[in-house]
Amino acid sequence: MKKLLEVKDLKKYFPIKGGLFGRQIGAVKAVDGISFDVREGETLGLVGESGCGKSTTGRLILRLIDPTSGSVKFGGKDILALDKNQMRKMRKDMQIIFQDPYASLNPRMTVGSIITEALEIHNLLKNKNDKETRVHQLLEQVGLTGAHARRYPHEFSGGQRQRIGIARVLAVDPKIIIADEPVSALDVSIQAQVINLLQDLQQDLGLTFLFIAHDLSVVKHISNRVAVMYLGNIVEMAEKNELYNNPRHPYTQALLSAIPIADPTVKRERIILQGDVPSPINPPSGCRFHTRCPYARDICKKEEPVVKTIGEDHIVACHLV
Ligand code: SF4
Repeated sequence: MKKLLEVKDLKKYFPIKGGLFGRQIGAVKAVDGISFDVREGETLGLVGESGCGKSTTGRLILRLIDPTSGSVKFGGKDILALDKNQMRKMRKDMQIIFQDPYASLNPRMTVGSIITEALEIHNLLKNKNDKETRVHQLLEQVGLTGAHARRYPHEFSGGQRQRIGIARVLAVDPKIIIADEPVSALDVSIQAQVINLLQDLQQDLGLTFLFIAHDLSVVKHISNRVAVMYLGNIVEMAEKNELYNNPRHPYTQALLSAIPIADPTVKRERIILQGDVPSPINPPSGCRFHTRCPYARDICKKEEPVVKTIGEDHIVACHLV
């Protein structure tokens, strides 16, 4: 499959200023040298606990924030080299769905105007009749009706608002959608409906997704491949079934062990991680996971593990692998 998005050695250090003259006294290493690609038509799940840098990664890819170093290519073009005008055009192809749809929907605008605004920004309307038809079509595509166009965001449930957010994103006909924890704020029963909707849309429209989530159960059904992040690094990445059946990094194993199994005959030992995620201001030496890893050895404190390829499409960074 063709690579649509290529991320290489991407870093984002947020400066910490302090002292009398407001000089930089440190940095939050939110993303610290990650590389991956997203292939056309696939969903790559990006998973990790809060503060691991996954949402920052999404924002860096869209250039909502600028990276400290590294490269991001979209369709072969280096997006970090684009000027403002070129980037604005490129944004049509790269869209984001946020965790809290309510915060991203203007409460004073009707749903119809919200979607129309997206169409107008990118000059995608030919005439007024075209507008209404297109808005209705988009609402129906996400499981709502044309009548909803006249209503305001507060009149909808959380799941319906997320559908409106998805309709707005679809309006501009994007090539890749970065879904940043799109179902985390929804009830579990609604989560499955929204994930199914995204999956159906992907099939119908040939979309590509980077799906960001904080637990592995959410991305299981929708992802083709999954990358696991810990403290600004990708520690393991593999094809979905390979990752769920043969996790090799102790952090991936711990995240998987936390997912309840529906089949009572299958027993899996729960791995309880000690302590919280350390601060990205001063991450642990060597392997960043060593302060919480049940298998940590001396070498883990001293040397950072290199990323190894251990199978087709399966990479892992751990001294024991
Ligand atoms: Fe654990 Fe060491 Fe592997 Fe890090 S390198 S995950 S500390 S065993």
